[in-house]
Amino acid sequence: MSGCVECVRWREREERARRRGDHSGAVDCRVLLRRHRAVCSVGRAVAERRRGER
Ligand SMILES: [Zn+2]
Repeated sequence: MSGCVECVRWREREERARRRGDHSGAVDCRVLLRRHRAVCSVGRAVAERRRGER
């Protein structure tokens, strides 16, 4: 969907940590995903598309 392997990877990691009950680990994944998104052209394009749809 997103088209970016790294974005998907962080999301999966976060979900895994959540299921384990590892809150700190989930937060770490969130932060890293945000950082990656800042430099992820694919994620940016998707976000801009969503904004433009409105
Ligand atoms: Zn990405």
